[in-house]
Amino acid sequence: MASSASFVRKRLARLGRRLGGGLLDVLYPPRCLSCNARTPEGDPLCAACLAGLERVRPEAVRRRLAERPEAEDVFDGALALWRFDPDGALRAFQHALKYRNRPRYGVAAGQWLGQALGDTLPHGGASVAAVAPVPLHRARRLERGYNQSTMLARGVARRLDTPCRPDLLVRTRATRSQTHLARRARWKNVAGAFDAAHAPPTDGPLLLVDDVLTTGATATAAAQALRRAGAARVQLATLALAG
Ligand SMILES: [Zn+2]
Repeated sequence: MASSASFVRKRLARLGRRLGGGLLDVLYPPRCLSCNARTPEGDPLCAACLAGLERVRPEAVRRRLAERPEAEDVFDGALALWRFDPDGALRAFQHALKYRNRPRYGVAAGQWLGQALGDTLPHGGASVAAVAPVPLHRARRLERGYNQSTMLARGVARRLDTPCRPDLLVRTRATRSQTHLARRARWKNVAGAFDAAHAPPTDGPLLLVDDVLTTGATATAAAQALRRAGAARVQLATLALAG
């Protein structure tokens, strides 16, 4: 009897896995991470919360990157979509993406970013040769299960209909978390932390994707690695501008 009970249990577990997300969506319909309203498309934030996010003006991104000459020289253009407000809707989103194992939220947000890029880039972003996420160190990725920037990059690439290349860059050394470091220390912390694992495609600009732009130190170090490997043009896109 014990063995037939365990057989039934195993069959039920397998059935549960097969139904997977679909069944979960019926039992727990997707809700906005910020206000808890239903989001029929399964988006992490509802239309009202999205509309309430503050768009970042291009000058604000340029000013931020102009604080360091390295960053000015390395990017051919940069876009940060929304202002990061520590009390706002993006905070709930970022927390879920980073700490609650929600990779598909990253792909959904990447499509929002891709939409904005398509509206601003020449030819709707069709000239972009590839989308490259800023990599996490392997140890950090294993701990989290995925790189949130890769999920964003996938959504961007899907929207721009261009290849996503998470293999282009590697993080060659683990770096301390940037969160509690002063601005100058952030640059030292990530300088030389990236390398290109492959020659980047040169038939158009590369689009480097990260979740948050703070000082630009991490993105600049990653872009410098792409340049060293022969990339002629690198553009930057982030979901948020912090600080
Ligand atoms: Zn909402």
